[in-house]
Amino acid sequence: MEIIELTNKELNEIESTFLEYVKMKSQELEHRCRGAARKGVQLEFVDTPSFQLHSRFLTDDDYRAVILFPRLQLMAMYQLFFQLKGRDALALGEDVRLVRWSMFYVAICCVLQHELAHIYRGHLYLRQFWKENWEQHILDWKTLEWDADRFVAEVLAEYWGVWKENKGKEETGLGIQMLCGTLHGMMFWQRRQENLCADVEREQQILVRECAILQRMPVLYERQQEVLEYIQAYEEEFRRVFKNNGALELPHNIFEVSSALQELQSHWEKIKKELQPYAMMLLEE
Ligand SMILES: [Zn+2]
Repeated sequence: MEIIELTNKELNEIESTFLEYVKMKSQELEHRCRGAARKGVQLEFVDTPSFQLHSRFLTDDDYRAVILFPRLQLMAMYQLFFQLKGRDALALGEDVRLVRWSMFYVAICCVLQHELAHIYRGHLYLRQFWKENWEQHILDWKTLEWDADRFVAEVLAEYWGVWKENKGKEETGLGIQMLCGTLHGMMFWQRRQENLCADVEREQQILVRECAILQRMPVLYERQQEVLEYIQAYEEEFRRVFKNNGALELPHNIFEVSSALQELQSHWEKIKKELQPYAMMLLEE
């Protein structure tokens, strides 16, 4: 795959945008916290050979926690969105650079908010206890991932609100299409980074999470057919970028509550009780 190279200055600018974002969002969350507020969460970009994000609590610090974000992942997601081409079902509008940037920006914000959810909703604590015998906690683990995705749906809804306010009716279609691309790109990358081509079951689990996020957004729920077409078109386009010929079939009805999703929803009731004492905020019903 060809690579779009970035200068150090460009990379610095991109990184500071997200440092600022985490600072702002974590301070907002501190205000929702029970107990004494701290300075929020730090974001640190790191040059590890892994794609996996990692968060940990800081005990002797003004900050509550730190998110370690591998530059490899940042760059891979940059390539994913900046190499997109508008064609057939996908029109990228007149200002292609802005569209690509918005999708990349919002997708990274979604990843960061998902991580903030792991920190503020007590997930990191519970996960520590499961380390010893994680095989027994696979469903618990999946349920926490599903819970953290609430924050992803929030970011997308916020972004949709801003789009609607600033653009005319004729650009609604482009906005919807960008929402789909942002979400699908983020989840595509999730499937891709774990190198899952051979593990269809794991890929299906990530698709279940994507469907759950779609179902949390009324604006997408109202346009199911359109959304499915966009997602199929993005799947092809992302595969072209990454030269991936995977054979994963997208479900026909992404808005149907699958049995896998039902299982997570009902397991949440149990997990929520365990989680609440460690969560820094009140967990909703
Ligand atoms: Zn997660």
